[in-house]
Amino acid sequence: MTREVTKSELKDLFILRRVSGARAISLLTECPVIEMERGQILLKAGQSNQKLYIILSGTLSVHLESPDRAPVAILDAGETVGELSVIDDSPATAFVVASEPSRVLELSEAAFWDLVSFSHAFACNMLMILSERIRHSDAAITRNVRMRRRFEKDALLDSLTGLKNRRWIDSRLPRLLDRHQRSGLPLTLVMFDVDHFKNFNDEYGHEAGDTVLASVASSAMDCLRPTDLCARYGGEEFLVILTGIPKEIGLSVAERIRQNVKATDVETDDGRKLPPVTVSLGIAEARSDDVAAILIKRADSAMYRAKTSGRNRTCMEDTGTEGST
Ligand code: GH3
Ligand code: MG
Ligand code: MG
Repeated sequence: MTREVTKSELKDLFILRRVSGARAISLLTECPVIEMERGQILLKAGQSNQKLYIILSGTLSVHLESPDRAPVAILDAGETVGELSVIDDSPATAFVVASEPSRVLELSEAAFWDLVSFSHAFACNMLMILSERIRHSDAAITRNVRMRRRFEKDALLDSLTGLKNRRWIDSRLPRLLDRHQRSGLPLTLVMFDVDHFKNFNDEYGHEAGDTVLASVASSAMDCLRPTDLCARYGGEEFLVILTGIPKEIGLSVAERIRQNVKATDVETDDGRKLPPVTVSLGIAEARSDDVAAILIKRADSAMYRAKTSGRNRTCMEDTGTEGST
């Protein structure tokens, strides 16, 4: 193939739609043609560029971080490359590589601006190409925002139980606490932990233990209102946040959880029946000057008392055992 462009090659290209006039055509036919082999790089991200390239035939792929990465766009005959660098005099933002043998017309910066001023049609076509690029980028941004939201959501959920996780507690509890302190509404924490779970794992295996943890989580959720929040605090330890509820009512919620966990039969995936587990629970109600860590600590201390006083029971902060069987 020749290194010169023929008029017939220019005929059906989008960027040259309705471009006529001897001056524009002679300007285009005087521009050199680059014959590209498959894999050949036309532009490198970060490198300065003063040329506009019009694809005459073949396809070019656009890659963001490296030419080895998956392409973010494929450009066909009639499309342009490098226009942004020419317009705003900035380095190329992507790698552009021939994905098959391609012919590319190279316009100098001067030729580009001449064409823009001689040919209204060329300028309009360029605007169309640029607006399509912006739409494409907008769609990519929307996709990225959605993906980021999903990742953020996943990062706050515990994959085993589907409950919120420790990171969620650390980021949200202080805000919830603050809101309740300002509104004057009560907020009560119930912390609970599976009893003798190490023995359970040792006897029935870690996988059965996982099944039990998921079951404990759903037994607890079954006892809660939609406005209550339940999170996996760590290993076999859970935290319930009861908004608008004082500790006395929190006690009855905790007791419901305890009874429900104890009464729930669990089976492994292969149908093996597992013995029910029990939980020990501790309750603490937020005070006006509490911070999250102190409130959690009081619920934890109450739970520790439930453990040391026999397990399978609920203890309230600053008082004795409140519920057991
Ligand atoms: P206690 O009644 O005092 O709470 O005794 P425990 O045995 O439950 O407490 P310990 O802290 O000695 O052991 C906790 C066990 O929980 C040990 C650990 O292997 C198990 N565990 C923690 N996270 C998981 C998990 O994700 N899956 C399973 N299967 N086991 C877990
Ligand atoms: Mg335990
Ligand atoms: Mg524990």
